[in-house]
Amino acid sequence: MDTEKLIRDVVVNVMKRLQSPEVPQKSDSGQANKQAKTSNRKIVCGVSVRHVHLCAQHLEILFGKGYQLTKLKDLYNPGFAAKETVTVVGPKLNAIQNVRILGPLRDQSQVELAKTDCVILGIDAPVKPSGKLEGSSTAVIVGPKGVVHLENGVIRANRHIHMSVPDAQHFGIEDNMEVDVRVPGPKGLTFNNVQVRVGQDFKTELHVDTDDGNAADIVNGSLVEIVDASCVAPIEAQKADSQQIPPEIPDGSYAGEITEANVLKSINNGLEKNGAPTRAPDPDSGKKTVITADDLDQYQDSGIKLGPHVILTPLARDEAKERGIKIY
Ligand SMILES: [Zn+2]
Repeated sequence: MDTEKLIRDVVVNVMKRLQSPEVPQKSDSGQANKQAKTSNRKIVCGVSVRHVHLCAQHLEILFGKGYQLTKLKDLYNPGFAAKETVTVVGPKLNAIQNVRILGPLRDQSQVELAKTDCVILGIDAPVKPSGKLEGSSTAVIVGPKGVVHLENGVIRANRHIHMSVPDAQHFGIEDNMEVDVRVPGPKGLTFNNVQVRVGQDFKTELHVDTDDGNAADIVNGSLVEIVDASCVAPIEAQKADSQQIPPEIPDGSYAGEITEANVLKSINNGLEKNGAPTRAPDPDSGKKTVITADDLDQYQDSGIKLGPHVILTPLARDEAKERGIKIY
């Protein structure tokens, strides 16, 4: 019976854990000892914002012959953020601007996005370890001097830990092992399937994308903990029967990280009711955005950008002035 086997496996694993020196046993006396043993599995987080790695050939197409990247900042692990950025365009013809290039150059160009970026661009990029580009997605990269149609190389990077050799020895972890990572706090959760890469020149650091980072409320420098969840049987991804699937309500908005009110308004104006993108908003179409005094909270920080299809009611205008909301 599968169930019996499952229970047996769980019991065996729990017994193993209890016997392991890494896990403080019930009989361990003193809270201090317990804390010392758990706190040394804490590691630091780096949240990777969408970025691009380029090969030499693509750098020249995008920026011109003989171009060299300018270093903006060293990363915590080997590599640097370049001063230069590009625009990434997907099949919906939406674009994400100011996508940072990370150096040094690589053999193959690679675009790393979060799921939210993929939704905006209309790209169904797979979750892959960096550099493993078989079956990855396509996008167009636009630079100041040219355009690259990247046939292959758009991924959502898998969760991974760069780990120094001494830390790997200390934790008893080998290169390419997968671990679980627990995040504390009100949005705390456990990340599964975190690949560990051990390297001579690595500093120990968890890398997640902005969607994972935002979901768990972590930022660069947050401390998280490697946990051993091997006693929990892995589960397969499944989808419910059709009658159990909650309906999707297409309200024409983009979920995710775009919270700037002016940007959301302009995106929504360019969408049909069913969420499908249309051409740029047509000022003569009669579709106008009316901002009333009730809407002002959303514009407190961003200010209100007036345009041919954005109307501000007189009351809203007066109140915006009173509240010091910029109108431009
Ligand atoms: Zn990384």
